[in-house]
Amino acid sequence: MSAALSRENWNDRARSLSYRNQCFIGNRFVSAASGRTFTSTNPATGKPLTQVSAGDKEDVDRAVKAARAAFDKGVWSRIAGAERKKVLLRFADLMEKHATELALLETLDIGKPIGDSSSVDVPLSIQCIRWYAEAIDKIYDEIAPTEPNAISLIRREPLGVVGAVIPWNFPLLMGSWKIGPALATGNSMVVKPAEQSPLSMLRLAELAAEAGVPEGVFNVVPGYGETAGQALGRHMDVDAITFTGSTEVGKFFLRYSGESNMKQVSLECGGKTPNIIMADAPNLDAAAEAAAWGIFFNQGEVCNAGSRLIVEESVKDAVLEKIRKVAQILQPGDPLDPKTKMGAMVDETQMNRVLGYIEAGSKEGAKLAFGGKRVRSETGGYYIEPTVFDGVKNSMKIAQEEIFGPVLSTITFKDPADAVKIGNDTVYGLAAAVWTSDINKAFKTSAALRAGVVWVNCFDNGHISSPFGGFKQSGFGRDKSLHAMDKYTQLKATWINIS
Ligand code: NAD
Repeated sequence: MSAALSRENWNDRARSLSYRNQCFIGNRFVSAASGRTFTSTNPATGKPLTQVSAGDKEDVDRAVKAARAAFDKGVWSRIAGAERKKVLLRFADLMEKHATELALLETLDIGKPIGDSSSVDVPLSIQCIRWYAEAIDKIYDEIAPTEPNAISLIRREPLGVVGAVIPWNFPLLMGSWKIGPALATGNSMVVKPAEQSPLSMLRLAELAAEAGVPEGVFNVVPGYGETAGQALGRHMDVDAITFTGSTEVGKFFLRYSGESNMKQVSLECGGKTPNIIMADAPNLDAAAEAAAWGIFFNQGEVCNAGSRLIVEESVKDAVLEKIRKVAQILQPGDPLDPKTKMGAMVDETQMNRVLGYIEAGSKEGAKLAFGGKRVRSETGGYYIEPTVFDGVKNSMKIAQEEIFGPVLSTITFKDPADAVKIGNDTVYGLAAAVWTSDINKAFKTSAALRAGVVWVNCFDNGHISSPFGGFKQSGFGRDKSLHAMDKYTQLKATWINIS
């Protein structure tokens, strides 16, 4: 898409970029009813980008009304899957046409390297929308094998109005994992992007309307979590919440549901991924390199970041040495430079949170192997260098809590059973990895790890056809794959008496 663009080209484009910065309700941009706004800041420089409408209860209510009206009219919910497919394919084509702009919005809003936005976030989001568009006219309902004097039709129906609450680390991609299956199955949506990253989602909504998604089907209300997010979670006419974010906030949504209309809730929450490297890994260098990318990619702001390196004592030093080498080429740089591999933390709060964890690690007695500091402060931006702790105990705060930054905790183990025990000793269960050339160890370890995704001799592999989601307090429900459609449909059994 944009491989040929230089840093200067990206900066030129950034200067001439215009921002969509209001609520998108009923296919129109409108100010928040309160007239309030919040500042969207570029974390690479600490400078403001634009003022964005601070949606609140009243705006959520307007968006839900628009979504409900569209759903009840059937303009999207009751048309043939093949018709929705045409519109969603046009939507994906428009995303492709505006891929450079979408990548730029993502990078400016959250500080991730433009190389990542343009080669990971945007193409995978487009692929996701296309995949669900292509799937929807190939799915059949069922007839139950009942007695011959009746037919029981088992049909999947859309839920109605789906509220999607999105985090800031991959705004477009996490959004697309929800928008793809929710729209393909015929629902209307109200999307609440994170306050740190509303810009790409607002542009996306406009592209959806241009593609022909009918008025009211796809609404976006930017705003704060405690206001707009809570209003969506507690709304009496929202049928389901699909949430990606922290475990702490995920639990709020369970409460909101219980205290309102018992809306369906699915949660994609935090993680503390154990990356287990055994001494007999098929290629130790490759394992160590993957471990480095597994924690430093996207500044470590990744739910499944391999934040706990659980490594066999005898190979620990070799593995850490390789990670140190990879970290040297991952030093933070200007996110608009295509050569940059690590950008800025999303905001000052997140940077300080991560620095606080680094301090806590040292205080608890872990050994700072390298990194640990804020860098590039002269830019006004929020950068932290790749950081590795050695000698970590799994009971320490840095091994138990999700840091969501470029900080690796190294823990050693005695035997595979010990590695599994340490790996599972956390409230999270999103992902895990194991590196070994012994097929028995690989199978037994991967089976014993309590995680929704387990990688064997690889890290962070994924495909739209394979489900993603957590065990334990990493949440429930799955994004991606045909299984994601379960979250956006409900089964209706219709009995037809034929006697
Ligand atoms: P967050 O939980 O702070 O916010 C997520 C969303 O919830 C945002 O839109 C926010 O505005 C909203 N929110 C915040 N407080 C709220 C409240 N009181 N009521 C209602 N809504 C509220 O998470 P974040 O900091 O944006 O993202 C980082 C987190 O997301 C990490 O924990 C990460 O692991 C998780 N995450 C999980 C996955 C996954 O697939 N499991 C993917 C990406 C990120």
